Amino acid sequence: RAKEDEPNSYHFYDNEMEQSIVRRLNMISDLKHAIEHDQFELFYQPKVHLASNTIVGAEALIRWHKDGSLIPPNEFIPVAEESGLINEIGKWVIETACKECAKWQKIGMKGLTVAVNLSPVQFKRGNLPTHIFRALQKYNLDPNLLELEITESLFIDNADHVKQQIHIMAEKGINFAIDDFGTGYSNLNYLTTFNASTLKIDMSFVRHMLNNPQQQHIVNAIIKMSRVMDLENVAEGVEDEQTAQELLAKGCVYGQGYFWSPPVPSDKFLRLLKQYANAA
Ligand code: C2E
Ligand code: MG
Ligand code: MG
Ligand code: MG
Repeated sequence: RAKEDEPNSYHFYDNEMEQSIVRRLNMISDLKHAIEHDQFELFYQPKVHLASNTIVGAEALIRWHKDGSLIPPNEFIPVAEESGLINEIGKWVIETACKECAKWQKIGMKGLTVAVNLSPVQFKRGNLPTHIFRALQKYNLDPNLLELEITESLFIDNADHVKQQIHIMAEKGINFAIDDFGTGYSNLNYLTTFNASTLKIDMSFVRHMLNNPQQQHIVNAIIKMSRVMDLENVAEGVEDEQTAQELLAKGCVYGQGYFWSPPVPSDKFLRLLKQYANAA
């Protein structure tokens, strides 16, 4: 509360808060504009089978073209989540990713999967499965080719309606991956109550693991756990060949990272696919 004898501190606080609210409101209206004017694009990052060095799928990662610059998701997804606009944006992401994956199948890249990141907010309304089934049907895509990436935070409340929606989608053959695995705070019990197919080892353990025994221990433990639980594993943030080889030696099966490619626009991803197919 402002005191009469401290006018400056009050105004400073007031201004800062006001500015941050104004910034957020501006971003919300910019995001609405972006939805209406198709300013989003999906980039694709290859998921690589380590033993054969082949591309088996891609993760779709959203980008925002705003006034000539490319805004990364970490700068707008949080606001999209708070405002609920993530529902609209997420629908577009699912549609676009399914469409692209269907295209890959048509041009002969059979079995190539697509992974889509979901926000916990997208589970609140309860109609997520409906939207996803609709997109699969529209593009005639096998549910097995779609992987949904969720984070441990989704399970913090242990909510029934979350589990139900996941169950409905998993029954149809959609795969679930736990993204950023190892960075969450939830207990691991959720892994026994729903059928995840994949653990994605967070890049904070992978990127500098060669120089860091502690991180290697964590990576080892996650790989062992995934095998015991019959889950697939993907290491994120693989930036060099030595790390890729070390991961393979440790029993990791798939990798993603700048060593192979950063996320790239769809046409560039297609060129990358052809390059790898020719090399094989
Ligand atoms: P994520 O799903 O964990 O994605 C991995 C992030 O690591 C991506 O950042 C990717 O560009 C980056 N990355 C990949 N390989 C490397 C590497 O070798 N080194 C380094 N330093 N970074 C690497 P990006 O694209 O900026 O996405 C950040 C996060 O934004 C994602 O993390 C995901 O949580 C979220 N996100 C992205 N697209 C969507 C979306 O369509 N919907 C939702 N809800 N979230 C999204
Ligand atoms: Mg992800
Ligand atoms: Mg991740
Ligand atoms: Mg993430």
